[in-house]
Amino acid sequence: MEGLRGIPSVDVLAESLDPSVPRAYRVEAARAAQQWARNALRSGEPADPSVVRERARMVLGRLRTPSLRPAINATGVVLHTGLGRARWAREASRAAFEATASHAVLEVDPDTGSRGDRQAHVEAHLRALVGCEAAFVVNNCAAAVLLVLSALARDREVVLSRGQMVEIGGSFRMPEIVQSSGCRLVEVGCTNKTRVSDYERALGPNTAALLRCHPSNFAIVGFSEEPDPRMLRELADRHGVLLVEDMGSGCLADLSRLGLPKVETMRDVASWAHIATASGDKLLGGPQAGIVFGERRWVDRARSHPLARAVRPDKATLSALEATLRLYREGRETEIPTLRYLARGELELKRLARRLARRIGPTATVERAESEVGGGSLPGVSLPTWVVGVASGDPQAVAQRLRLGEPPVFCRIRGEKVLLDPRTMEEDELGVAAAAVIEAVAREGADG
Ligand SMILES: *Cc1c(COP(=O)(O)O)cnc(C)c1O
Repeated sequence: MEGLRGIPSVDVLAESLDPSVPRAYRVEAARAAQQWARNALRSGEPADPSVVRERARMVLGRLRTPSLRPAINATGVVLHTGLGRARWAREASRAAFEATASHAVLEVDPDTGSRGDRQAHVEAHLRALVGCEAAFVVNNCAAAVLLVLSALARDREVVLSRGQMVEIGGSFRMPEIVQSSGCRLVEVGCTNKTRVSDYERALGPNTAALLRCHPSNFAIVGFSEEPDPRMLRELADRHGVLLVEDMGSGCLADLSRLGLPKVETMRDVASWAHIATASGDKLLGGPQAGIVFGERRWVDRARSHPLARAVRPDKATLSALEATLRLYREGRETEIPTLRYLARGELELKRLARRLARRIGPTATVERAESEVGGGSLPGVSLPTWVVGVASGDPQAVAQRLRLGEPPVFCRIRGEKVLLDPRTMEEDELGVAAAAVIEAVAREGADG
């Protein structure tokens, strides 16, 4: 314990900190600072009492601010998983706030006062928008797939094309999900080509379903082929098995109207699949949710499976999703940030980039770049954009200072520059981001 002399005790350190902060936080900060000092001394570095106190103050600052807090997304990645995927529409945030800040009519029928159905708040909207017979919502799309397969294909075979054996986000691997649902996976076709006849040959007495899965985060280019889903439906019907589709990104809008490639919508999928699953917080632009939709018979069977209770959504999710779906029904999709960001044209982006650059100062340049959709949606599609570039001797350090600021600002790096993409920013965030950049670059001068 030789080298530990001189490090203030936890009590002394805690007393030296802002007394208006709860003591539990001060003690935690003191412990962390002391631990840091011990480590420093052990590795032969100095740990002056004043430095240790400064360290404790820094840790305390972090403990005082909420950990899960707002950030500015200047990456241009519209569905940034690390930054919470889809940004909620204002109406969705407001609805969730109101439904959670008081009691809410979540699962009660105001007419009779008896128990109601929490899914009723969203089901009618989903049916109208998707054109399906029935729908309900669970915690996320992964849960929806697990539930649907468990309820409809347990102990039986599920046929999946080798071109659709996807891994999404590290832990969601289609073959493993099929197995976790108690089904036996039957792989058919090749990575680049699978034909209807491949599916047909795989059908047997124990087949429960043909599974289609969207290759959400990669694209096979060149010599490739997957059968028309309508032909798969025909095959499924002929053999008395189900066509189940995991579409991931639950697109409700016609993206070609936004100048993007046309992708299958939930309405398209409902026209051929017996039952399907989609995410709430990808292209749909709502809260994290998994949507199960399709023909009533199959949807109801999934809905009444015991697992459904384990993955049911809470009132915040349901109210935010209802509000988001209402925007679609009212033709107000442009109030959904995901769609608005995707739709932003070069003229608007250039105007925003110029405004941001002006606020940063003469060192900022306005340059062309590409934004990404992200979040396992529209792989291979990049969107031309205009960004603000700020040169630095150490762009990694500038980016780190931006992330550690308040609010944290996330950007990209290209060569010697940090890049800020206004595609994923609101106008009122430009000033905050500019101030953060000015400070991060000024500190570079001071530190160097
Ligand atoms: C994203 C995705 C999932 C997982 O969705 P979560 O809502 O993140 O659970 C499942 N399947 C496909 C095809 C996806 O793209």
